[in-house]
Amino acid sequence: MDIEEFRRRGKEAVDIIADYYQSVDNHPPVASVNPGYLQKLIPREMPQTPDSYDDIIADMQSKISPGITHWQSGNFFAWFPGCSSYPSIIGEMFSSMYSVIGFNWLCSPAATELEVAVMDWLGKLLGLDNRFLSIDEHGRKNRGGGIIQGSASEALLLAMIAARERKIQEICSQDNISYHEAISKQYLFVAYVSDQTHSCAEKAANILGVQIRIIPSDNNFRLTKDALVAQISQDKRSYHYPFFVCGTFGTTNTTSIDDLPGLADVAEVEHMWLHIDAAYAGAALACPEFRELAQGIERAHSFDFNLNKWMLVNLDCSAMWIFDSKFLTKALSAGRNILYRDSLEKENPAVRNMHNWQIPFSRRFRALKIWFTLRVYGVVGIQTHIRNQVNMAQWLKTQLILDGRFEIVAPVVFGLVVFRLNEKAASAFGSIDLANSCLYQLIQQDGRVFIVSTMVNNRLALRAAIGSVFSTMENVKLLFDVITESATDAISSHIY
Ligand code: PLP
Repeated sequence: MDIEEFRRRGKEAVDIIADYYQSVDNHPPVASVNPGYLQKLIPREMPQTPDSYDDIIADMQSKISPGITHWQSGNFFAWFPGCSSYPSIIGEMFSSMYSVIGFNWLCSPAATELEVAVMDWLGKLLGLDNRFLSIDEHGRKNRGGGIIQGSASEALLLAMIAARERKIQEICSQDNISYHEAISKQYLFVAYVSDQTHSCAEKAANILGVQIRIIPSDNNFRLTKDALVAQISQDKRSYHYPFFVCGTFGTTNTTSIDDLPGLADVAEVEHMWLHIDAAYAGAALACPEFRELAQGIERAHSFDFNLNKWMLVNLDCSAMWIFDSKFLTKALSAGRNILYRDSLEKENPAVRNMHNWQIPFSRRFRALKIWFTLRVYGVVGIQTHIRNQVNMAQWLKTQLILDGRFEIVAPVVFGLVVFRLNEKAASAFGSIDLANSCLYQLIQQDGRVFIVSTMVNNRLALRAAIGSVFSTMENVKLLFDVITESATDAISSHIY
């Protein structure tokens, strides 16, 4: 492909993308292909000689498209949203244009400096405490700052790495032993999460070789101070070292919020690192009315949310803040300096050698797509987006309650509605789980909307997550119609 063909094909590609978005609701939101469908359509060997570009595009439309689940459809309500937007897509295109690999400042000063700037913009947008920002109100460098990671899982792992480093240093000075001796105690380090915390916490503990306690949540699906204190006391009696606790602001199953002030109290007393995982719900903090729910975050050591869930930026884009980067950078600095020359960080607050704040060495220029998105939407545009989705979720909740056959399983705070057929509606089935499983299957068979199911208090529940920028009231009304029609079919099939 030469430059002129690139020019022509690139313009065509934007048209294909625009056409896709214009008609995305016409596709069933979930792919209906069988496992292995593509293996039958794609040759087992790559081409020896170049394929024709027209054939590639034709194959994409005839072979790839049928196997796509349309996350950007207004009728997609599964998991959490994977919310993209036009300015974000354009920002991503320009990031590919530069294709810089910004592991340190010198690799691309603009990539580092824009990241520092947009992370501070975002921190202020969410109302985060000033100590999370890179540059304080007097233009001086803070001890930490924000960095874009690929995912909330990576952010949690990095927080655990920093926490482990902090505990190792503490043991060194308390017990007057060497760094290596302190590391050898790591198998006694314990991280604390709840049974509602995302499974990436277990993954992080497994990677690091530390222990993890999964504490039962309370009736409101929250990790509480008392439960944490009880577990820690037990562990300390057997000479374990509590070093990390994860509080979730918006859990995956129900969007519950842990007792963050309580966890912060315990973290302080026990010298543990408090990480806040706000992967989905963090975006809501752009609206001041949600900040009351986030008390305690200002006392955390790190905080993370995914712009690629609810804040209009396409995957991958997870925003992590850390109040003091020294533990992380100490743990991740290799010390050797082959082929690259790090810029001097101390001299200027805008200079940062990002490879010591993350797992990979290389890094993408993700700040550009954030910059495009934040500028095109502005604070008001982002707030409107979040409030629209929350209002639609409230509408759905109210309609389901008014219908009389459903119970709402968890408080609807953000864009997620978790519901099920109630005991009365399910009575003909003899089992509430059977009734809801039947309802779920009928909704899937209908195919006009896509939701997923989950287990809440050991019982089946259905989750409808409203969050796509393309979901309008019309889409949510369709969702309600599909749910209620399927409920009627499910119940009548069991009565007659
Ligand atoms: N934390 C929470 C609360 C989540 O809901 C999810 C995913 O939905 C994750 C973490 C994992 O996010 P990621 O895929 O960015 O690692």
